[in-house]
Amino acid sequence: MIVSVPECLFCGIAAGDVPATKVADGERIVAFRDINPQAPVHVLVIPRDHYPNVAALVAAGDPGKGLLDELIAAAGKVAAAEGIEDSGYRVVFNTGPDAGQSVAHVHAHVLGGRAMAWPPG
Ligand code: AMP
Repeated sequence: MIVSVPECLFCGIAAGDVPATKVADGERIVAFRDINPQAPVHVLVIPRDHYPNVAALVAAGDPGKGLLDELIAAAGKVAAAEGIEDSGYRVVFNTGPDAGQSVAHVHAHVLGGRAMAWPPG
């Protein structure tokens, strides 16, 4: 685990150096609105600590495992706060090139507020 990577955009957002519309600002977890929303609700949930993707977070063992639990719990809290708990939502970890991961700091997308198709594009 690396606590912060200077050139990482999401480390910058977590630190408050890069502006973002935050909806949660916790000790270990930060959530903010996606700059290019793909649904009426599109929030990104990240740990403050830098891991390149969810696989690296899991591979780190503890404290990574505890952090993953916190991330998922935070995603659920965001969904509840955004009023999409009952209508439904997706929690997505894009991981690697084929998934279209564009920012190498683990993040959960919380998407909802409209019906979504499956399979994803
Ligand atoms: P991914 O493609 O899964 O790596 O997701 C990265 C997400 O970060 C994309 O949905 C982008 O729209 C979003 N994003 C990129 N830059 C920012 C930013 N400065 N503030 C908020 N969201 C961003």
